Amino acid sequence: MGTEITLPSGKRVEITPIDGKTERLLEDKKLLQSGALIDKYLASRIESIDGDDSMTPQQKEKEVLDMLSGDRNYLLYEMRIDSYGPDMTFNHQCPTCKKTSGYQVDLRELLDDGTIKIYPYRDEPLRVELPRSGGYAVIGYMTGHEERKAAQIKDNPMSGTMLLRVKELNGKPPTIKDFDALIGEDLAAIRGGIKEMQNGGLAPTLDLTCLDCGNEYSADLRFIPDFFVPTKTNMVNASS
Ligand SMILES: [Zn+2]
Repeated sequence: MGTEITLPSGKRVEITPIDGKTERLLEDKKLLQSGALIDKYLASRIESIDGDDSMTPQQKEKEVLDMLSGDRNYLLYEMRIDSYGPDMTFNHQCPTCKKTSGYQVDLRELLDDGTIKIYPYRDEPLRVELPRSGGYAVIGYMTGHEERKAAQIKDNPMSGTMLLRVKELNGKPPTIKDFDALIGEDLAAIRGGIKEMQNGGLAPTLDLTCLDCGNEYSADLRFIPDFFVPTKTNMVNASS
């Protein structure tokens, strides 16, 4: 029997702890480039979804792709605690002074006290009015599908993201040409909407204070190696 967790959307998922075989997925460069790494990683540790334990690996991967990103982040977070415990010891480089500080956090506590935020989902996609053209854009939540496509974007990440996130522009799916014709203020409104729609489910950001220069900044948990592969004993001396 695994551990049953309830995702922010209400879906129930039973998970089993990460083993060496799943850890090894993290080293698969092909999976990383194709954007399928997190999908395979999550799917490999799922026993059942909403009580259904008869799914094939392919069906599990499809379920994970269809999941909202905020649910996927929550699943990653709970899997991390279930597999390695809640303690996370890690080093992080300050983006301002470039010095590295050591940190120690309890992931369970951060979730319980609301430091790691879980945003409720909106019932409807967001409709953004475009002030210059008088048109509108509809922006939905990210799912695994968009995450996979985002990982494949090589050039022009800004317009690529916009194309990925805007479901409708004046009633139909947008093209790059449509965005090319928009005035800056409309583009800014769309970017604001995209940012707003990032707040659904678990936000994988951790607020850190540099121990050297005191700068406060946010770090994405998914880019901290110790979130995925903890070693527990590698913290630099905070004063060095
Ligand atoms: Zn600093």
